[in-house]
Amino acid sequence: MPSPVGHSLVGIALGAAWLLPRRKYSEIARAAWHVRWPMAGCVVLANLPDIDYLPGIFSGDLNAYHHFYTHTPGWCALVAAGIWCALRGIRGAASAGDFAWILALLMSHLAADWATEDFRPPIGIMALWPFDAGFHISPVTIFLHLKKDSFGDFAQWHNVKAALVEAAWCGPLVVLAIGWKLRGVDSKED
Ligand SMILES: [Zn+2]
Repeated sequence: MPSPVGHSLVGIALGAAWLLPRRKYSEIARAAWHVRWPMAGCVVLANLPDIDYLPGIFSGDLNAYHHFYTHTPGWCALVAAGIWCALRGIRGAASAGDFAWILALLMSHLAADWATEDFRPPIGIMALWPFDAGFHISPVTIFLHLKKDSFGDFAQWHNVKAALVEAAWCGPLVVLAIGWKLRGVDSKED
């Protein structure tokens, strides 16, 4: 799995693509402030499958429950449906596009984990569950695995290097999303 650095940057990129208007830069910056809480929600969604660390923390083995059902398309679809229903209840309306973005945010986590080195069996994630319970990993991995037998393990140079690799891959996605919002906008437009 990538660290929260990689997942959060992907969440910000997808959140920017979903929530920000197509305007000139100064207005986008203002709009970003207005949607800061929904944007924070996007970051949470992009990290949410790692909620499976919680039972591991309580049981004393951080990785005991990691990379199972919360890292499957089936779980993501169910959670996306639940959040979409809640959004509809709160706002009074939610579109199919909203569902697609929520699902994309959750699934972005799976895609990133799928493309991450994994040396701890079972290797990979159940990328096709509920259709297939097998574990799968990308033939080409771009993110480094994290060394994390316990919380104390996180603070080490290898993990800093892993986070820097994630920033190098995922930071440009944020720039691309904002660039997409700026593209074709008339600078004289109000
Ligand atoms: Zn994960």
